[in-house]
Amino acid sequence: MALEKLVIVGNGMAPGRMLEHLFEQAPGRYDVTIFNAEPRVNYDRIMLSPVLSGEKSFDDIVIHDDGWYETHNVTLHRGARVTGIDRAAKTVTSANGITAPYDRLVIATGSSPFIIPVPGHQLEGVLAYRDLDDVEAMQRYASFRGNAVVIGGGLLGLEAAAGLHMQGMKVTVIHLMPTLMERQLDTAAGYLLQKELEGRGIDIRCGANTRAILGEDRVIAVELDDGTVIDADMVVMAVGIRPSTALAREAGLEVSRGIVCDAQLRTSDPAISAIGECVEVDGRVYGLVAPLYTMAKILAADLAGTPVENFLHAETPTKLKVTGVNLYSVGDFAEGDDREEVVLRDAARGTYKRVIVKDDRIIGAVLYGDVADGGWYNELLRKGECVRDLRETLIFGQAFQDVLSSGGKPDPLAAVASLADDAEVCGCNGVCKGAITGAIKDKGLSALDEVRAHTKASASCGTCTNLVESLMALTLGDSFDASAPKAMCNCTHLPHGDVRRLIKANALKSIPAVMQELEWTTSGGCAKCRPALNYYLLADWPGEYVDDNQSRFINERVHANIQRDGTYSVIPRMWGGMTNSQELRAIADVVDKFAIPTVHVTGGQRIDLLGVKKEDLPGVWADLNKAGMVSGHAYGKSLRTVKTCVGTNWCRMGTQDSTGLGVALEKFLWGSWTPHKVKLAVSGCPRNCAEATCKDIGIVCVDSGYELHYAGAAGIHIQGTTRLTTVETEEEVMEITAAMMQMYREQGFYLERIYKWADRVGHDTIRAQILDNPDTRRAYYDRFVFSQRFSQTDPWSERVSGKDKHEFKPMADLSSRNHSSSSMEPAE
Ligand SMILES: Cc1cc2nc3c(=O)[nH]c(=O)nc-3n(C[C@H](O)[C@H](O)[C@H](O)COP(=O)(O)OP(=O)(O)OC[C@H]3O[C@@H](n4cnc5c(N)ncnc54)[C@H](O)[C@@H]3O)c2cc1C
Ligand code: SF4
Ligand code: SF4
Repeated sequence: MALEKLVIVGNGMAPGRMLEHLFEQAPGRYDVTIFNAEPRVNYDRIMLSPVLSGEKSFDDIVIHDDGWYETHNVTLHRGARVTGIDRAAKTVTSANGITAPYDRLVIATGSSPFIIPVPGHQLEGVLAYRDLDDVEAMQRYASFRGNAVVIGGGLLGLEAAAGLHMQGMKVTVIHLMPTLMERQLDTAAGYLLQKELEGRGIDIRCGANTRAILGEDRVIAVELDDGTVIDADMVVMAVGIRPSTALAREAGLEVSRGIVCDAQLRTSDPAISAIGECVEVDGRVYGLVAPLYTMAKILAADLAGTPVENFLHAETPTKLKVTGVNLYSVGDFAEGDDREEVVLRDAARGTYKRVIVKDDRIIGAVLYGDVADGGWYNELLRKGECVRDLRETLIFGQAFQDVLSSGGKPDPLAAVASLADDAEVCGCNGVCKGAITGAIKDKGLSALDEVRAHTKASASCGTCTNLVESLMALTLGDSFDASAPKAMCNCTHLPHGDVRRLIKANALKSIPAVMQELEWTTSGGCAKCRPALNYYLLADWPGEYVDDNQSRFINERVHANIQRDGTYSVIPRMWGGMTNSQELRAIADVVDKFAIPTVHVTGGQRIDLLGVKKEDLPGVWADLNKAGMVSGHAYGKSLRTVKTCVGTNWCRMGTQDSTGLGVALEKFLWGSWTPHKVKLAVSGCPRNCAEATCKDIGIVCVDSGYELHYAGAAGIHIQGTTRLTTVETEEEVMEITAAMMQMYREQGFYLERIYKWADRVGHDTIRAQILDNPDTRRAYYDRFVFSQRFSQTDPWSERVSGKDKHEFKPMADLSSRNHSSSSMEPAE
C-alpha cells in the first residue's frame, strides 16, 4: 500500500523535533518531503550566537546531518521556498518549480525579523539576525574590525552585540526602552546586565531612538533622535520578530497574529497543521523553543494517530547565551498590589534575586548573577505549589531548604560569630572582624557612626553595614540599639543621610544603581524612596542624571496641583509677584476659553486657575506660554515664589528696591529642585509687608543694606526666621542666597523643610560654611549656578511640545498592549 504523503514547509527546530517523535511512534507510516528556503539541513538556531562569537562552528550545531535524512527516507528540498498551496488539489509548489502532493501538510515557516523602516534601512551593511547567512555576513564585516551598531537591546540584540565584540568590533547597542531586555528583566536586573556589558567595553545607549541610518550606498553611521551620530560599518537590527504567515494567508487559512490553530495544532483546514513560531494558539504566539517542542510532541502524536494531549500555555524561562552573564527570568514579574515580592541583593557579588508571590504561589522570578535556583523556582511556579511555609526562607534557595529540613536552624548571628578574627569585613577599608569587635569593646562604642569613625568599617561603600551591625549586636548583646537613625523606608535599612552619602561616595548615578549597590530589599522601591532617590540623584549629578518622571508624585508628573474633584490648578509664574495687562488679558482669555470655574489670588502673590481638566492642561499652558508666562512650579518640591513689596518704587517707607531684588532672585533661582518647597520674600523695610521673616529665606531691606534671614515657617508649624547677617549689596544677597539653597539641596533629606534641616545640621554649621568661609560659600554658589544650567527649562512648554503626552490623555484612550508572555520580542 502506498504510504501517506506528509509534506512539511520549513525545516526549522520545531518540525525537526516533531519528526523525531513521529519516527519513534509511527516509523514508516509517512513518505516525508521537506521544503526549506534555507539551503541547508536542520540546525540548532539557538546556538547561532556561539557561532557568531567564534566559540562554535556550524558543524557543531547541526541537528540532523545528511545521513539522518537518508536513514529516515526523507526528501529534503534545500533552497526551495514554497510559494503556493493548492488546497483543492492538495499540492504545494516551490519557487524553483517543484510540486509535491500531500495527504497531510505541516506549515512550519517560523518567523521573520522585523526591520524598522527608518530612512537608510535598505543600505548595504544593514543586517538582521535570524539564520546562518546573517551570521556569516556579520563575520565578514567583523573581519575588518570597525564599528557595529546593534539596534535593539533584547535577547537577540545583546547576543549579537556580545558576539561582535568578541570578534573585535567596537559595538554600540541602541535601545528604545530605559533598561535592557525589559520584557524579560526588571529594572534591577537590567541595570546589572548593562553594567556587565559596559564593563566589557560595549557601549549601551538606553532610551535612544534611531532617526536614520546614514550612507550613500552602504552604511556609514546611525543618527539618533537627539541628533547624536554614531559611526557604523554595519548595523544589526534586532528589534523583534513576526510570524511568517504570508503563505498560509494566501492559501485562505485563518490567520491573525500567527496561523490560527486549535490545541491539536490543526489549522482551519483539517488536512493542514502548523507548528513553531508561525503558529497562534489561544491568541498567543511563541518565540522560544520550549513551547515549540511541546507542540512537536502533540503534532507527532496527532500525525501518528494516537490519542493526544492538548497544547496548553506554559511560562518559559529566559536565559541569555553570553559567556559569563548569568540571568534567568520566568513568569510574571510586573509590580502590583495583589502580589508581594521577596528580594535579595548582594552588591559585593553583583547578584540579585527576586521572587514574586501571589496567593501563596510563585508567579515569577528574576535572577541575576546567581541563577542556581532558577529551575527550582520555575518548578514551584509550574506546579503551582503553595509556598506559605517556605516564605521566610524562599529567597535563600533550595539548598537552604534542605539544611532546614534536615533539622538545621537559621541564625543570622551564628554566621557572623563563626567568622575568624582576621576575616575581612569591610573590603573598601580593609578592616577585619577582630579590629571591629576590639574597638567596640576597648573604646566602648555603641553607635554605628562611632564604629565608622574609629575603624572606618562601613564608612565607604556601605555594603558591609549589615555585617558591622551584626558584629555590634554580637559584641554588645542587648545594649545594642540598631534602631537609630530610622531607615528611609521599608525597602532599605539605610537612613536618608547614609543614602545621600553613599550616592556621592560610590558615584551612583541611577535609581537601579542605588538599589543594587545599596542592597535595597525590594525590586523597584516604593512611593517613599523613589521620589527621594530621584531628587538626590538630580541634585548630586546635574547634567548627568536623567530625571525619572515616573518616580515623581502626580503633581510633579503633570506639572499642576490635583484638586479634591480630580481637576487641576494652574499657577503661572509672576516674577516677584509682578504682572501686567498683557498677562492678565491672556489669563482672562484662558479662563473663558477653557471654562475655568475659579480664579484665586494666592498668599504668595500669584493667580491660581482652579478646576482645569487634565486633558485641557496642555492647551492652557500653550496659551499662557504664548503670552510669555511659564510654570510657577506651585506643585513642586522646588522654588515656589518670591513675594515682594513695592519698596522704593512706590512706598514712602522703602529703603531699597525690594521688587527689583525679588524679581532678580526669582529669575536666578527658579527651576531648581529642592528637598521640599522653598518660599522667599523681600520686604522693602522692617515694616515687613512681604512677611519675609516667616519664609524659608527672607530678606528685609534696611537703610544700610539687606538683612538676610532663613529657616522660617508659616504652615502647620509657625516659626520666625533666624537672622543670618546683614550685607551691603544685592550681589552679596544673591551669592549667599544661592549658596544657602545649594547647601540645603546637598544636605537636606527629601521632604525636610529648610527650618528642619537647619535644626538638624545646626545653625553654627550653616553659619560656618555660608558666612565664615568665603571659599566654601563660593563653591556652593558655583555648584548652584552649574546645576541651574540643566533645570531652567519651562516644563509647560516641554509638555506642550509633546513630552510625556501619555500623562494627559483621558484614561479611556490608553490602548492596551497585547503581547505573548514568552515570545522573543515580537515586533511592536
Ligand atoms: C540568534 C538566535 C538565538 C536564539 N536563542 C534562543 C534561546 O536562547 N532560547 C530559545 O528558546 N529560543 C531562542 N531562539 C529562538 C528559536 O531559535 C526559535 O524559536 C526556533 O528556532 C523557531 O523554530 P521554528 O521551527 O518555528 O522556525 P525556524 O527555526 O525559524 O525555521 C523556519 C524555517 O522555515 C523556512 N521557511 C520559511 N518560509 C518558507 C517557505 N515558504 N518555504 C520553505 N521554507 C520556508 C525558513 O527559511 C526557516 O529555515 C533564538 C533565535 C535566534 C535567531
Ligand atoms: S515693607 Fe516697608 S517698603 Fe515695603 S511696602 Fe511695607 S512699608 Fe513699604
Ligand atoms: S491651607 Fe489647607 S485647604 Fe487651604 S489651600 Fe492650603 S492645604 Fe488646601
